[in-house]
This record gives sequence, structure tokens and C-alpha cells, in this order.
Amino acid sequence: MVADSHDAHRSPFLRDVIADTPGGKKVVHCLQCGSCGGSCPNGAEMDYTPRAIFAMIAGNRRDAVLESNTMWQCVSCYLCTARCPQEIPITEIMYTLKRMAIREGKAGKSDAPALAKTFTDFVDKYGRSFEFGIATRYLLFNKPLSMLKMGGAGMSMFAKGRLALTPTKIRNVKQLRAIIDKAKELSKDD
Ligand code: SF4
Ligand code: SF4
Repeated sequence: MVADSHDAHRSPFLRDVIADTPGGKKVVHCLQCGSCGGSCPNGAEMDYTPRAIFAMIAGNRRDAVLESNTMWQCVSCYLCTARCPQEIPITEIMYTLKRMAIREGKAGKSDAPALAKTFTDFVDKYGRSFEFGIATRYLLFNKPLSMLKMGGAGMSMFAKGRLALTPTKIRNVKQLRAIIDKAKELSKDD
């Protein structure tokens, strides 16, 4: 990215976020209006709302942002992006923060990356999600004691026919794997 005349006055963290996000330069026009946090369906679960995150990025609070759970709670619904009066690519910035947190070894402070990896491992193998396997594998490796607490809920879902005990594969799983492999290859080139 070509540096502009304001670049030197920006926090190093803000410069990195702008450089890593398509259209990211718009973040400097954030009005702190809060429409993004107000429209976010997962805002209550986040350590900081997107509005607060942008203030922290401007203030160079790199560790606090990258160690937070905010971007991992983002479900990419794009509601905030659609409602932002400044057309800031908020959802894309959440992706940027995920990549940065992983690259800088700061993602481990949140549970969400482990859960996301368990999910993608199942999609890689079967072409679809498998709730029972995701829950048991994630809890076994990350929160073994919680498995005991969750057992009752699992049994009741199984009794109501809401939980399959074995995964099923989609028909063209090889094709899907080829697409996933290509996407991984392209993301390495970024
Ligand atoms: S909606 Fe846009 S302008 Fe308002 S706080 Fe969020 S990012 Fe900033
Ligand atoms: S895209 Fe992410 S941050 Fe934006 S409203 Fe949806 S969940 Fe919230």
C-alpha cells in the first residue's frame, strides 16, 4: 500500500490494519456513533464492541485488541457493514484481526479459534458440520470438565432426535476438498 500524508500520525497498529484490509483506509473516518455495536447480533458476547475496537486500534492498543474475543464472536453477518454511515468495511476488519491474532500468537487467549478449528476439521473431512463430534472433541481437548456438565443436555437432544451420533459425508466430498485446498493455497500467496 502507498503511504499517504497522514500515515506518520497514525498508530502503528492502525497502519497495519489499514494495510491488511481491502478498503481499510475508511476506518479513519469512524464517527464512534455505535451503530455497528447496536446492530451486532453477537455484541453482548464480545469483550469490546466494534466501535470500541476501532477506538482501541487508533490508540495503538494492539495486545488488548488481538487478545480479545471480539473478532472470534463475529459471525460475518455484515449487518454492521450495511449500517455503517461511513461505509467502513467492519466485517473485513474482523477477518484482518483474526489473521493478525493467529500470526502474532495472540489468538490462544480466546476459546473461539479452537472451536473454529474443530468445526473446519469436520467440514474438511465430511463436507459438513457434525455437532456431536464438534462438541465432544472440542470439550475433550479444551475443557474436559465441561463434558460432564454438557452430558445431560446432549442426552436430552439425542432423545428428541436432534443429535446424530455418527457423521455423514456429502456425496462430492473430494470436490469440496479440492476447493478448500485451492483456497488454502491462495491464502498462502496473500
Ligand atoms: S457504525 Fe461505522 S462510523 Fe459508527 S462506530 Fe461503527 S464503524 Fe464507526
Ligand atoms: S459482521 Fe460481525 S461484527 Fe458485524 S454485526 Fe455481524 S457479527 Fe457483528
